[in-house]
Amino acid sequence: MLEEEELAKLRKAGKIAGEVRRWVEGYVKEGMKVIDLCEGVEREIRRRGGSPAFPCNVDINEVGAHYTSPPSDPSLIPPGSIVKVDIGVHIDGYIADTAVSICFNPELYVLKQATDEALEAALEALAPGVKVSAIGAVIQKIIEKYGLKPVKNLTGHGLGRYKLHTGKPIPNVAGLDSLKIEEGEAYAVEPFSTTQQGAGEVGEAGFGHIFRILKMKPPKEEKARSLFEGIKNRFHTLPFAFRWVEEIWGKENLAAFSSLLKERHVTEYPLLAEKNRQPVAQSEHTVIVLKDEVQVLTL
Ligand code: MN
Ligand code: MN
Repeated sequence: MLEEEELAKLRKAGKIAGEVRRWVEGYVKEGMKVIDLCEGVEREIRRRGGSPAFPCNVDINEVGAHYTSPPSDPSLIPPGSIVKVDIGVHIDGYIADTAVSICFNPELYVLKQATDEALEAALEALAPGVKVSAIGAVIQKIIEKYGLKPVKNLTGHGLGRYKLHTGKPIPNVAGLDSLKIEEGEAYAVEPFSTTQQGAGEVGEAGFGHIFRILKMKPPKEEKARSLFEGIKNRFHTLPFAFRWVEEIWGKENLAAFSSLLKERHVTEYPLLAEKNRQPVAQSEHTVIVLKDEVQVLTL
């Protein structure tokens, strides 16, 4: 159960995440640099007194999750694309997670519309005692009503302190899972949709330049150990960008970073793309489940 003080931190994280999401909807333009978008979002989070809970994700077209710009990223927002911007904010480890699809192609707009409506209906259905699979059924029904497919292997998730995924997923399709939503829990709910030609699934598709600590035991070698301690103190087990490592610890520590990766102290998230390379939309909000109501924190 969350104490009042913890709730206040979660609410503050949610307020910042919502403000930055609305800001970014007006900021994204076709042809702009992806890195300007990532850095802009992270700057707006810090300017409001929050910390990024993960690097700003910018996932274009068939990419469903886990892309952030590497240092000096030359990539641009392609004309006619659908762009997912996924924003995480934490205050003292209390996380709010929200995402929006920005669509520059009128033919793909239906994907955005379907995930926005599915998210709204899922939030309406959420209450203590409701099975997570029932939420998945609500999401699936709405996305299929539009003649589209939900992405079945991307899910919402419970949120804990410094924990982006508590191990309690909220599926985007109906299923037999009997886990129930409980009072006092925080969740991110995030429907994803793709076209009828899509597989309705994402698969690994290379690297997205996002990492996290894997082993809590520090390495023996001095330089690697000092970098490891630095990363652990700063990010705990939350995801971080390679971009940040270079900014904070400098190019002289990149060899130590490679050794952390090689020894599996740190691991990279794979980039996830729709298996049939069909475009994907995403909508996401963070909620807190209280006894008599479910509060959406990232509006
Ligand atoms: Mn997210
Ligand atoms: Mn999420």
